[in-house]
Amino acid sequence: MKESNLQPTHNQFASDNYAGICPEAMQAIHAANVGFVPSYGDDPWTERACEQLRQVFETECQVFFVFNGTAANSLALASLCRSYHSVICHELAHVETDECGAPEFFSNGTKLLHVGGPSGKFDLGEVERAITRRSDIHYPRPKVLSLTQATEVGTVYTPDEIGAASDLARHNGMRVHMDGARFANAVVSLNVAPADITWRAGVDVLCLGGAKNGMAVGEAVVFFDRNLALEFDYRCKQAGQLASKMRFISAPWIGMLESGAWLKNARHANSCAALLEKHLAAIDGISIMYPRQANSVFVEMPEAAADALRAAGWHFYSFIGSGGARFMCSWQTTEADVIMLADAVRLSSKQMR
Ligand SMILES: *Cc1c(COP(=O)(O)O)cnc(C)c1O
Repeated sequence: MKESNLQPTHNQFASDNYAGICPEAMQAIHAANVGFVPSYGDDPWTERACEQLRQVFETECQVFFVFNGTAANSLALASLCRSYHSVICHELAHVETDECGAPEFFSNGTKLLHVGGPSGKFDLGEVERAITRRSDIHYPRPKVLSLTQATEVGTVYTPDEIGAASDLARHNGMRVHMDGARFANAVVSLNVAPADITWRAGVDVLCLGGAKNGMAVGEAVVFFDRNLALEFDYRCKQAGQLASKMRFISAPWIGMLESGAWLKNARHANSCAALLEKHLAAIDGISIMYPRQANSVFVEMPEAAADALRAAGWHFYSFIGSGGARFMCSWQTTEADVIMLADAVRLSSKQMR
C-alpha cells in the first residue's frame, strides 16, 4: 500500500463508523489487556459489562455481545421467529435494506414485510393492515414488529409512539424488536431514561450499537424478556459470533457506560448535526429533508452540487433518492469540520447557480 493511502482522513460525514475508537473505549481495552483470563465470555470483564447494562436499563436483562449490528439484528429476530413467521418493519429499515438477507437467512426463511410511513417511522395504520389483512395459511404469520431507534433518516420514535406500537404488537400476539445501532443518540435526543424507550414501552429485545457510538467493534443484544434468550448463546456460536477473547469486546462497554461516554459521545454527535443543520438550512438551493433529531442531516441539493462536493474530497451517502445527501456526525466530528463542510456546500451550490 502506498504511504499516501495510509494517511488518516478527517472531515468525513459518510458514516459514524468512519470515526476511530474513542479514548474511553481504548483505555478499557488496555485495562483488560492484563494476564490470562478465561475465554468465551467466562471472564470478569464480561460479567461487569452485563451488570453495567442491567444498571443502565434498571432491570435484570440478559445480555450477549456480538461483532456487528447485522449479526445482532438477524440473530435476535431469528430467536423471536419460526421460519413461517414474518417481521414487520419500515421500508427503509436496515434489516430490510442493508443486511443482505441475513435476518431471513438466520431465521431459515422468516419473511420481512415492509410498510411505509413518514420520516423513517412506520405508520401504525399500515402496520395494522399488514397484520390483519390476511389470516389464512398462505400468508407468513406476523410475529415481530421491528423498529429502528434512531431511525435510518435520523428521526426518533417518542416513548408514546413506541408504547402504541408495542400495544398493537402485543394485541396481535407479536413481539417487539428494536434496532438500536444509534440508540444512544435517541436517548439524549429525547432526554429519557433508556428504560423508558425500551422495556417500559414494551420492547422485548434491543440491539444496542457500540461501533457507531465510539467503540472499535461490537454490539450488545439485550433481552428484556429473559425467556426469549433461551439458547441464544448457541445461536451466537453457530453464527460465528462468539468471540474467544471476549473481554476485548466486552471491556469497552464498561469504559463507555461507567464513564458516561456513550451518552457524551451521542450528545456531541447530535449537537454537531444540529449545528450543521443550522448552517445548511441557510444556504440557497438546499433544503432539509427530515426533522433533524439525532446525529444526521439529510438535504436535498442539486446533483451537480453534490458531484462538486465529492470532487472536492467530501464523503457522504446519497442513497435516499436522487439529489438527497446524508451527512452523519460522530463523537469525533469537530465544530471546525462542520463549518468547513457547510462552507464547501455553500461554495458548490453557488457554483451551480
Ligand atoms: C449501521 C447500522 C446497523 C449495523 O450495521 P453493521 O454494519 O452490521 O454493524 C444496524 N442498523 C442500523 C440502522 C444501522 O445504521
